[in-house]
Amino acid sequence: MTLGFIRPKTVGEAMEVLDEHKDSSKIVAGATDVTVQLRSAKPVEEKPLWLVDITRIPELSYVNLENGIVRIGAMTTHRDIARSAVIHDVAPFLADACLSVGSPQIRTRGTIGGNIVNASPAADSLPPLTALSARLRLVSRRGSRDVALCDFFKGAYKTIIEPDEILEEVYFKAPQPSSRCAFLKLGRRESLAIARLSVAVLLDMDESGKILEAAIAPGACLPMPARIARAEQALIGKIPDEESVDMTSLEVGEEMVRVSGVRWSTEYKKPVACALTKRAIWKALGVDVD
Ligand SMILES: Cc1cc2nc3c(=O)[nH]c(=O)nc-3n(C[C@H](O)[C@H](O)[C@H](O)COP(=O)(O)OP(=O)(O)OC[C@H]3O[C@@H](n4cnc5c(N)ncnc54)[C@H](O)[C@@H]3O)c2cc1C
Repeated sequence: MTLGFIRPKTVGEAMEVLDEHKDSSKIVAGATDVTVQLRSAKPVEEKPLWLVDITRIPELSYVNLENGIVRIGAMTTHRDIARSAVIHDVAPFLADACLSVGSPQIRTRGTIGGNIVNASPAADSLPPLTALSARLRLVSRRGSRDVALCDFFKGAYKTIIEPDEILEEVYFKAPQPSSRCAFLKLGRRESLAIARLSVAVLLDMDESGKILEAAIAPGACLPMPARIARAEQALIGKIPDEESVDMTSLEVGEEMVRVSGVRWSTEYKKPVACALTKRAIWKALGVDVD
C-alpha cells in the first residue's frame, strides 16, 4: 500500500483535503489506533491512501465550560483531559476514565476524538460520555451536523461518520453541582490494560439523599455505548440502600445478556458486571465497599 501524507493547519484546510480525497483518505490524530490498523490491514489496492494528519491544528484542542456546556475539542489528549481543572470540577469520572487509558505515552498521544471514532466497545471515554448524554459536532465542506453520542455508533467499530467528515468536538451539559459520579474499570492488569469491563455512574440526588436522576453506562460488555434504563429506574426515587443498589446492579448483568446473548465469557462477565456496577454506585455515593 502506498501512503501519502498531508498535514493541514486549519480545520478548513482539512475539510478541503478530505473533500478532494474522500474515497482514499484516513484521518490520523494521535495514531495510537491507526498505526495498529494500518499494520494489520491486508494489502488490497494499488492506489495511495492519503493520511490526513490533524495533529497540527491547534483549534481542535481545548476544554471549555461556557453557559453550563462543557466542550472538548476532538484533538484534546487523554492526558490533558485527565489534568483539566474543568473536567475535575464538573465530571471527575471522565478524568478518571482518561487517566485509565493505556500508559503515559498513549495518553499523551491518544485523543478523545480518536477514542470516539475508533468505536471500540472497550474505549474508556465512552461510558462517562454516554452517562453525560454527550453530543458530537461533525464538520465537512458540506456543512456541520450535531448528533447524540449514542446515535453515532452503528455497532462495534462502526459509526455513521462520512469519509469527508471531521469530528470537531464532543460536548455535554455540566451535571448539577449536587451530582455524584464514578468510573471503574477492570482490566487484566493494573496498567496498559484494555477494559474487560467498565462502568460509569452519574447520580443526582436531593438533600434527603433521594436519587432524582441516574445514568448508568457500562463498557466492554455491549456492542456499542448505551445507558441501562432498567437499572437506572431501579434507583430513581429511592434513597439508595443495599437492596436497591443490588437490584440496579443485577439489571446491568441482565441487560448485558439480553443484548449480547450468552457467550463463553458470560459466566465470568455477568457477575463481574453486577459487582463492578455495585461498587461504582457506592463509590459515587462516597461509600468505600472494598
Ligand atoms: C498500547 C495501547 C494501549 C491502549 N490502551 C487503551 C486503553 O486502555 N483504553 C482505551 O480506551 N484505548 C486504548 N488504546 C487505544 C487508543 O490509544 C485510543 O483509542 C486513543 O484514544 C485513540 O486516539 P488517537 O488520537 O490515537 O486516534 P487515531 O489512532 O489517530 O485514530 C483512531 C480512529 O479515529 C479516526 N479519527 C481520529 N480523530 C478523528 C477526528 N477528529 N475526526 C474524524 N475521525 C477521527 C481515525 O481516522 C481512526 O479511524 C490503546 C492503544 C494502544 C496502542
